Amino acid sequence: MTVATPLPIMEHTNPFESMMSRFDIAAKMIGLDDDTYNMLRSPAKQVIVNLPVTMDNGSIRVFEGFRVVHNINLGPGKGGIRYAMDVDLNEVKALAAWMTWKTAVVNIPFGGAKGGIKCDPRSMSKGELERLTRAYTSALSDVFGPEKDIPAPDMGTGQQEMAWLMDEFSKIKGYSSPAVVTGKPLVLGGSKGRVEATGRGVMVTARSAMNRLKINPQTSTAAVQGFGNVGSISAKLLATQGIKIVAISDVSGAYYNSSGIDVQDAMNYAEMNNRSLEGYVHAEKISNEELLTLDVDVLVPAALQDQIGAHNAGRIRAKLIVEGANGPTMASADDILDENGIMVVPDILANAGGVTVSYFEWVQNRLGYYWTEERVNRRADRTMKEAFDTVYQTAQKYQTNMRIAAYIVAIEKVANTQKLRGGF
Ligand code: NAD
Repeated sequence: MTVATPLPIMEHTNPFESMMSRFDIAAKMIGLDDDTYNMLRSPAKQVIVNLPVTMDNGSIRVFEGFRVVHNINLGPGKGGIRYAMDVDLNEVKALAAWMTWKTAVVNIPFGGAKGGIKCDPRSMSKGELERLTRAYTSALSDVFGPEKDIPAPDMGTGQQEMAWLMDEFSKIKGYSSPAVVTGKPLVLGGSKGRVEATGRGVMVTARSAMNRLKINPQTSTAAVQGFGNVGSISAKLLATQGIKIVAISDVSGAYYNSSGIDVQDAMNYAEMNNRSLEGYVHAEKISNEELLTLDVDVLVPAALQDQIGAHNAGRIRAKLIVEGANGPTMASADDILDENGIMVVPDILANAGGVTVSYFEWVQNRLGYYWTEERVNRRADRTMKEAFDTVYQTAQKYQTNMRIAAYIVAIEKVANTQKLRGGF
């Protein structure tokens, strides 16, 4: 009898399960009652819209769009809009809940929301994308609003889509309403410091964690997965702290140099090379999988979700993981990382610098007064440091890891406001 070679175990997660498995542990630890649990599990509002759009060839295509507002106890809904073919209601629901916890962890007065359109933005012309964005805004003009629900960019969208959204919303209302959306171009009311905000928050929380772990930045090394907005800026700012960046990566592969990589040089190279590190010669090429298990002090996954799971968690040698990406660690890895004494600064804390500066953008729009970059950075750094300390102290109090502690901080805050507001 021949024994078939076992297939590698593929780990599948969906964002909702991934979030809820951690939520459940935290809810149990704080003894959350069933009524509050059920309320926090369910989104407050889910909207599906069908958007007819005239394509460049004269045909009309109907796109499906979603917006979910998960919770508004702490303030208006806040969350990005994703343009991708695999967007569905389940994913948007999970991401909206994630935003509720993220804004609560960094203590900003927003709830959680998320939106998406099932489309392939790379195959659409600028005109088609503009008509689609305007149709989406118009269909959701009663959902969005500076006091109600404030979108932002996410995968497949950027400053241009936010400018169209702001313009369409303002036309419908009959007055200029920059505070309806964040992530706008600077000239239309965007905030200084927004582009670097997420990477900056990664650096600040990494520094706080290194202090607690007594890792000296001057003698430490880091590997960063992903070289887009979050990865490249995290790497650049970690290097300014004296940390030697020995590996970087993007979709083309990973690049390793034990003597350290000049991050600005790599950024310049990618900029000139269609945003790709392909062919970067000042480092040895390794795989993205190898990057994750390098012998470094700090590992920053800043590319995709589901990168660290039961299949590779046991081989991770970093002392500290700082999650620049959303959901890079699967729930199946949590116990293994704990057992090996690896501290994980979870996504809802580590990458919340972006939403923090989005909050500052909204504040500036409402004030009609714009801050210097220095002021934005100073306030964002303070917010991130305080959030880190609160989560760290909570982890000590409950004798748990930083991820569950971050959920505890968020759930307690949202649950308390739910009780105070009452009205059921
Ligand atoms: P981006 O599109 O600017 O960059 C993504 C990077 O990941 C690119 O360098 C790409 O080449 C790389 N990549 C893609 N597939 C890869 C693979 N298989 N292996 C290794 N690298 C791969 O995106 P971004 O804005 O930097 O976002 C990265 C992550 O951070 C996402 O999970 C996003 O949700 C999260 N995030 C971003 C922000 C923000 O402000 N941009 C805020 C919070 C969280």
